Amino acid sequence: MTSSFNPLRRQLFRGDVRVQRLPLRPPWSVDEQQFTQDCTRCQECIKACPENILEVGSGGFPEVNFKQGECSFCGDCAASCEASVFRPVQEIPWQQQARISDACITHKQVICRSCGENCEPEAIQFKLVAGQVAVPEIDLDSCNGCGACVAVCPTQAVKVSQNEPEAVL
Ligand code: SF4
Ligand code: SF4
Ligand code: SF4
Repeated sequence: MTSSFNPLRRQLFRGDVRVQRLPLRPPWSVDEQQFTQDCTRCQECIKACPENILEVGSGGFPEVNFKQGECSFCGDCAASCEASVFRPVQEIPWQQQARISDACITHKQVICRSCGENCEPEAIQFKLVAGQVAVPEIDLDSCNGCGACVAVCPTQAVKVSQNEPEAVL
């Protein structure tokens, strides 16, 4: 089954020119155009995810939402899919990485290390500055985009996004 639905095109028609980011598809997804063309919206990947981080997104296509948890890279989403929208799980799952905005409360001199404490690859280090609260810094070489640092942040300062966002146009 094919579909002509294109969420990016719809964003453009709505005049939402600020939207530059593609929806976050499950790990190992093929590129956005092929994904929205070949995904049947059967929701099998959503049901298969043991971490409950997949949800029905715009147009009925699956999207990742880290509000409830993190990706364990188990591969169950890819295994459950009968369409050709996932790459082999032997490949790198995606190019997603975490970013921390100025909303981080350490910038207001409030001590917090929640994101770092939940980062298994230890990609978040806290930079010590004399007389100041330590501020988190992400080592992008170590971050795998699992999203474990997102829900634990009290100020929603952490977002996971593609390391080189694709332009809409
Ligand atoms: S790899 Fe596993 S945890 Fe990650 S989105 Fe797919 S099913 Fe969910
Ligand atoms: S996305 Fe995962 S690996 Fe990257 S900083 Fe957050 S917890 Fe660590
Ligand atoms: S969890 Fe959020 S507020 Fe706390 S240090 Fe990390 S980014 Fe800052």
